[in-house]
Amino acid sequence: MSDKEGTNDNEASAAPEGKLFSTGKLEVFPVGKEKIFLPGKSIGILGSGQLGRMSAMAAKNLGYRVVVYDASPDGPACSVADLSITAPFEDETALTRFAEEVDVVTVEFENIPVSVLEFLGARVPVRPSASVIRICQDRVLEKNFLESNGFPVAPFRVITSAAELETGMSELAAPSILKTAALGYDGKGQIRLSPGDDTDAAWSQLGAPRAVLEKRITFVSECSVICARSPLGETRCFPVQENIHADGILDVTIAPAALTAEVATRAQEITAAIAEKLGVQGLITAEFFLLADGSLIVNELAPRPHNSGHHTLETTITSQFAQHIRAVCGLPLGSVELRSPGVMINLLGNLWQTGEPDWALLLREPELFLHLYGKSEAKPGRKMGHFTLLGAGVSSRERALDLREQMVPPTVKR
Ligand code: ADP
Ligand code: MG
Repeated sequence: MSDKEGTNDNEASAAPEGKLFSTGKLEVFPVGKEKIFLPGKSIGILGSGQLGRMSAMAAKNLGYRVVVYDASPDGPACSVADLSITAPFEDETALTRFAEEVDVVTVEFENIPVSVLEFLGARVPVRPSASVIRICQDRVLEKNFLESNGFPVAPFRVITSAAELETGMSELAAPSILKTAALGYDGKGQIRLSPGDDTDAAWSQLGAPRAVLEKRITFVSECSVICARSPLGETRCFPVQENIHADGILDVTIAPAALTAEVATRAQEITAAIAEKLGVQGLITAEFFLLADGSLIVNELAPRPHNSGHHTLETTITSQFAQHIRAVCGLPLGSVELRSPGVMINLLGNLWQTGEPDWALLLREPELFLHLYGKSEAKPGRKMGHFTLLGAGVSSRERALDLREQMVPPTVKR
């Protein structure tokens, strides 16, 4: 519990005392030791889902102690953590205990009340900081941040009433999507609209006080970039990956994305610039739409590991989870060089509908890596696990999709 720093954890300190690391890129990190948490320290993770679980595993591999905090018990990260605290996020007694248990706090999802992050931030470094998470948990703030800093976004309007929706739709004059400002995920909290639709009905159906109405973009593909930024200001982007969604949920990721070097570099440059502008400590993921003319539009941000980066467990030298821990703890960032191309396939609860999938079928594949999150109940749409099949190109993608199809018990084969 030593080495705690104050509340202002946004910017790298210039104190020259700590010469803990030297890399080829930066001769010496000119930073105070208090920015750095070496193995043996305790990392607190807010949230206990699969992203927390895989981050916790990476932290454990490095010799950290892990404490998970979540409102609901038995999340996938709990069985990996050294200690799990189950309490509502607003429980100050539990939060105080959590802060006392850990040296640094990070998040595995962004929907943590800002007041909670600020409460913790007054006691222990929170990385990314409350100010970063505040922006990324609110589509209105996020879109305004992106637009005002010159990052490319789809034309949008901020909506707080049916009347504003009416005006926004006539101004955009095109097919659009209405998205809740807060708490949307996996395509939830979104309504697709076309000119002439009943705006009163749409607004009451959304049932949210604030929303973003954005133009529906005709894209050729979707991709994402995960960028790590350490408290010392070092940034490093993973290779760009292509993402295919089904029913608003990520279905397949192809790594690396089949893009021209120019487009891939631009996506990485945009993401690194966003990380820099936000002052992220940890990871930031940017989701993009690629247009037919080669231009990129930023769809949304996530200040944490991302489903589209799961393949990095096998495809890159450092995984997104190991990089998350390195960035949060102020360690030098690991190499993001590609070891092998690969295809990541999500496994949703739907696949369990009439029985346990045929794991043996997957496990017979020598270059397939199965990850199950240890969730007890398989509900439709719930992310139960994923696998990554190493290999490049359309043939690998088709093979991976074929394997997912085949692993479903024969009685439900469609
Ligand atoms: P979520 O937080 O649920 O991931 P997103 O804003 O990323 O929300 O939307 C989910 C998916 O819906 C996107 O990955 C994309 O496929 C589609 N989508 C979202 N916004 C647009 C848009 N403006 N134009 C076209 N498709 C969109
Ligand atoms: Mg998204």
